Amino acid sequence: MRILVTAACAASLFASAAFAAEDPAAVARDFQARASNGGLAFEIVRSLTTEVGGRLLGSPGDGVAVEWGERKLKELGFANIRREEVRVPNAWRRISERAELVGVTRQNLRIAALGDSPSTPEKGFEAEVVRFPSLAALEAAAPGSLTGKIAFIDTHTRRARDGAGYGEAVVVRSRGAPLAAARGAVAVVIRSIGTDSHRFPHAGLASWGQDHPPIPIGALGNPDADQLARALERGPAKLFLDLRTAVAPATSYNVVGEIPGDGSSDEIVLLGAHLDSWDLGTGAIDDAAGIGITVSAAKAIAERGAKPKRTIRVVMFAGEEIGIKGALAYAEAHKAELPKHVAAMEADFGAGPVYRVTPDPSLPAALQTSLRSALAALKVEAGSAKAEVGPDLGPIHAGGVPTIGLALDGTDYFDVHHTEDDTLDKVDAVAIAQSSAAYATAAWLAATHPEPLKRGTSGESN
Ligand SMILES: [Zn+2]
Repeated sequence: MRILVTAACAASLFASAAFAAEDPAAVARDFQARASNGGLAFEIVRSLTTEVGGRLLGSPGDGVAVEWGERKLKELGFANIRREEVRVPNAWRRISERAELVGVTRQNLRIAALGDSPSTPEKGFEAEVVRFPSLAALEAAAPGSLTGKIAFIDTHTRRARDGAGYGEAVVVRSRGAPLAAARGAVAVVIRSIGTDSHRFPHAGLASWGQDHPPIPIGALGNPDADQLARALERGPAKLFLDLRTAVAPATSYNVVGEIPGDGSSDEIVLLGAHLDSWDLGTGAIDDAAGIGITVSAAKAIAERGAKPKRTIRVVMFAGEEIGIKGALAYAEAHKAELPKHVAAMEADFGAGPVYRVTPDPSLPAALQTSLRSALAALKVEAGSAKAEVGPDLGPIHAGGVPTIGLALDGTDYFDVHHTEDDTLDKVDAVAIAQSSAAYATAAWLAATHPEPLKRGTSGESN
């Protein structure tokens, strides 16, 4: 046994030295070949979306997804597989929803209650609608001017590869209801935060301030928002709204698995994506794709042969959609261990391809250089700005963990994001293979980098 262990250690020391000298671009091309051959990332998305489907935290699908996650990691040979508890006092669910434009006729409009929206009064209600072309216009409305009325916030979402248009528009979901409530509104409808022209409304989390009781809020599909806007151009219009929702305490789990390092370092390279999804679709692009990318990337590293210096830890985060519940729980549970987390990557922006890499400036310059030159072989450009931090990495990043930003092409992402249309057919098998290879390359380079990465040891701590 002792001889075997010694031999293994010697082999891995030799291997580490050998890998450190490897051409980063050749590593990237090797991962690209592995990803294209196996198609594992796509197969994982197929498995999760077919066997589980929608999986909002608190729904039966979420529990099935946790079991799926553990089983999948086991099947793929991961080590140290475990679930870590995430408790939510008020997990929200939709029961039913109906909206009608009330004029000379009654026209059905497609609506989705937004997350955490309360129900309307029993059997629904009818009220006059006031349109606001922007949040600023609503903000400018006088107190009391919306008493007994429904505010319609009609802002469009701009298409952008990096999702900038979403960032601009999504504030309507968080600030719309409190602003309308402060002016006396009884409910809010918004134009969906989405770039498509189909009738599926986009779900998403809403929020309310402390000053007013929550009022119901729903999103109309883009064409139905157009219809309501046109009706209002012709004169006053009313909406009938009947939204049924409920809340209950729920427990979910972050699912964790590892590709152990060679034992020469206790440092961790984290790959994360979220396991939960909104309830309307099957959560293919959001975020089965991220699960597929990160799990397949770690698996590709395991398959490449000798163990990397550092442990690769994959975290399937719980409850991202309802307020990064799993990410907050992870940061809390692993507080003492965070200094050992030397690099973290997240995939939560569809299937890709990856088009830009931006390492945290606190990482050693040599590692940043090898990341850029390796990923150039996969047609990934070098970012100059600060590394992007995805939602689930926010809490550990705040705790000092450096990130490697790998930007996924989100040009079409907000066509289907949080809708019934978020299904497997939207995932491009070629794009997700490139993304998997890019994540594998970045994680490999971080996990095998010869210099110490732990903060305080490199002299470049952030
Ligand atoms: Zn997501």
